Amino acid sequence: MAVPSDIQTRILALRSQLADHIYRYYELDDPTVSDVEFDELMRELQRLEDQYPEAVTDDSPTRRVGGLAPATFAPVAHRVPMTSLDNAMDLDELTAWGERVARGLDGDDVAYVCELKIDGLAMSLRYEGGLLVQGATRGDGRVGEDVTANVLTIAAIPRRLTAPVPEVLEVRGEIYMPLASFQAMNERAMAAGEKLFVNPRNSAAGSLRQKDSAVTASRELSFWSYQLGEVVGGPEFSSHHSTLQFLAALGFPVNPKITVVTGLAEVAEFCSYWQEHRHDLPYEIDGCVVKVDDLAQRERLGFTARAPRWAIAFKFPPEERTTLLRDIMVSIGRTGRATPFAVLEPVFVGGSTVGMATLHNQDQVRLKDVRPGDTVVVRKAGDVIPEVVGPVIALRPAGSQPWQFPTHCSCPLGSELVRLEGQSDTRCVEPGCPFQRDQRIIYFATRGAMDIEGLGERTVFQLSDAKLVNDAADIYSLSVEALMQLEGFGRISAEKLVGSIQGSKGRPLPKLLTALGIKHLGPSAAEGLSRAFGTLDAVMQASEADLATTDGVGAVIAASIVRWFAQPENRAFIEKLRAAGVQFGNVVVSRQAQVLAGKAVVVTGTLAGYTREQAEAAIKDRGGKSPGSVSAKTFAVVVGAEPGASKLAKATDLGVRILDDAGFEHLLATGELPTEAAN
Ligand code: NAD
Repeated sequence: MAVPSDIQTRILALRSQLADHIYRYYELDDPTVSDVEFDELMRELQRLEDQYPEAVTDDSPTRRVGGLAPATFAPVAHRVPMTSLDNAMDLDELTAWGERVARGLDGDDVAYVCELKIDGLAMSLRYEGGLLVQGATRGDGRVGEDVTANVLTIAAIPRRLTAPVPEVLEVRGEIYMPLASFQAMNERAMAAGEKLFVNPRNSAAGSLRQKDSAVTASRELSFWSYQLGEVVGGPEFSSHHSTLQFLAALGFPVNPKITVVTGLAEVAEFCSYWQEHRHDLPYEIDGCVVKVDDLAQRERLGFTARAPRWAIAFKFPPEERTTLLRDIMVSIGRTGRATPFAVLEPVFVGGSTVGMATLHNQDQVRLKDVRPGDTVVVRKAGDVIPEVVGPVIALRPAGSQPWQFPTHCSCPLGSELVRLEGQSDTRCVEPGCPFQRDQRIIYFATRGAMDIEGLGERTVFQLSDAKLVNDAADIYSLSVEALMQLEGFGRISAEKLVGSIQGSKGRPLPKLLTALGIKHLGPSAAEGLSRAFGTLDAVMQASEADLATTDGVGAVIAASIVRWFAQPENRAFIEKLRAAGVQFGNVVVSRQAQVLAGKAVVVTGTLAGYTREQAEAAIKDRGGKSPGSVSAKTFAVVVGAEPGASKLAKATDLGVRILDDAGFEHLLATGELPTEAAN
């Protein structure tokens, strides 16, 4: 069938794009597209070539092993070609491969070796007489690059084999950079103000292909062996797993997760397990590799132009993609922290669509040097929040300028953003900043705080724009009618929101303490404070020393609490909450000895040093009661200036002891009545 001209044009375009990506990836270690985007182009080309076999050429990327013939290092001819692997993108494709294997083996039983697909670069290590004589990259599969000097710096690779070994032994495996080394390397780069590395794979490849082996040595690379290449002399093997045992016995690192299984169901289980648990490992994997174990069966299956038929790479969904960085904006948090974030052309990565990603702080933006208009690498790994890894410099538009951190808050007050010496955060220090205020209200209503259903970000912004709230306490005076003025609110939804706002007044003290948004004071410290002090008033009155010795609190939080309550505007806010009827705690916990347990002490008149409430609180703190009237059960009546005449008369009538200020102090200290003479 003749190839239609538009198809031919597309095929040529794909080949040229792929050739460019292959060059950048293997020769420059600096790709401009993510692996999944590369794979999509490759698959499209493969599909077109399957449909129009006349269009296939020997130099098509679909027929060749990915890499390039060496340009930078001396060439090394591989006596046994180093192939690539065919891919399965999901369990259906894996099953289809299993069925092809079964057909190829006329339905014979098959055992599979399941391995992790280490995200590094393939390496051939040649030992002669037990001595490491050559390390070579895969290159184009037939000719690789001589990187012996650099390989010799990697501690995990044995230089000399001590056990009896074949005359020539070629060991293949993956050079990779452990995550800890990658992180340490980036921390060093950050401290030195240097460009950050994008991911462990590119870092490993870049580190290995250094002209100066001292640089390679500083990068802490490692190695997993997974295959024999050329072997001259030595033992005969009948299975892949026995070759791995042999390698392990010689001292090569063999990955302990490698598992031999007998059916495709178990293969699928292995792949699914590691897809879920990939981040439990201290190195990166991008899939699993499944290999037929029996070497005779492998012979029967053979190879395609670029890969063995007896193995398949099960690839995990991508965690990195490239996309357009539309803009960089700065959000102001409830404590005034100014956090830059990336506004992205939405991209599906790590299992969800990502449209925004944090850029953490000013230094991170400067080091990553990401600019609006850049194509950037976006990463979302596991539960970790999405991040912009870095720009693709090769695709940067001409004339672009580094992004500047704003000098002023973009709120209507436009106050200055301040970065204190030695701190990584920049802050808006204007307490009246409406952005901070809105964030404080949003935080007040969140699940971990007052848990007010229906009071999310959108509604808070609406309330704030309509000038219906000025702080979180104002929400308690919102009426159904007021809410109904807001867009999207009818009577029912307004009543529902008012209901959940009013219902939050009775939240337990830890929730209220958390909701105040005091810096450093999180839920566990709030729990500790509630247990120790029982009421918000007791927390407010507590000394810094008492706070600091509370469970889960400590000096930093204690100081922050004291600072917060010392601010008159915060005190006023507390009083507004009180007036609105928010419960300030109902568990009365005392740190005093319970010397008045079971005793009723009535207070009348004004005492020196105590308000009426304080005197009553002091009695209750010691386990006593302080009723408003005198009875036969009253233990004592404390009398200050201008006492109530009826209480005094009743006490005298009933023979209840009457105490003055000094007697009261004695009572509080001992729980006992002073002797008659002392009183
Ligand atoms: P591959 O990465 O899909 O699989 C083959 C490679 O897997 C082997 O060469 C080996 O290095 C590695 N591997 C890891 N663990 C292994 C194990 N246990 N057993 C056997 N091999 C193991 O194929 P490839 O040909 O090396 O590379 C193609 C891939 O490289 C593409 O799918 C793409 O992801 C990436 N690539 C990306 C770009 C880009 O521009 N982003 C360009 C070229 C290639």
